[in-house]
Amino acid sequence: MSHYTRRDFFQFWRRLAPAAPAVADGETHAEAAAPAHPTAERDDGLPGYLRPPGALAEALFVATCDRSHECIKACPYEALLPLGEAYAAAQGTPVILPETHPCRLCSDLPCIAACPSGALAPTPLDEVSMGLARWSEENCILTHGDLCTACIAACPVSPVTLWTEGGRIVVDAERCTGCGMCVYACPTAPRSLTIG
Ligand code: SF4
Ligand code: SF4
Repeated sequence: MSHYTRRDFFQFWRRLAPAAPAVADGETHAEAAAPAHPTAERDDGLPGYLRPPGALAEALFVATCDRSHECIKACPYEALLPLGEAYAAAQGTPVILPETHPCRLCSDLPCIAACPSGALAPTPLDEVSMGLARWSEENCILTHGDLCTACIAACPVSPVTLWTEGGRIVVDAERCTGCGMCVYACPTAPRSLTIG
């Protein structure tokens, strides 16, 4: 039997948030609500990215964000960057790039507090969900018999949401926030963790 978690509730609420402004002509809110995370593989070859904590679902987020960059200015870790013009309609919207600019999961979420448009919706820290860490064994140092716990040490969630099990990295999908700190800390090239 599937169970419906508090995190599921907040994700569902963000996707249907009535405060979101009009979406494109002919587009329903249901259509605008997907995908939840824009970090999945892109068809256009451009690098993927994460949205900041509390972000509405992708199409609503792009329609709602006023490009004021108040969240970017409020982030104490310079984790947020504006998308460039190659991203067309999403140009200027804030993103997190886990390999170089992960989210530190600030306890007071100043990015959300600073957002004037509602594109970043108030969200409890333990309900933040930007994506999910996925481990790839191919390049991981553990796979080759050596010890490495860099990703585990970097996880800001308490207790941490990833650990080793039988020489593999296991991620708690219920509690992982997708902050990208594990990706940032991973010393392999390519990284042995991605956020999807
Ligand atoms: S939680 Fe903190 S580190 Fe993460 S994007 Fe918001 S302000 Fe930046
Ligand atoms: S497993 Fe990685 S992405 Fe998930 S919360 Fe921990 S550091 Fe962040």
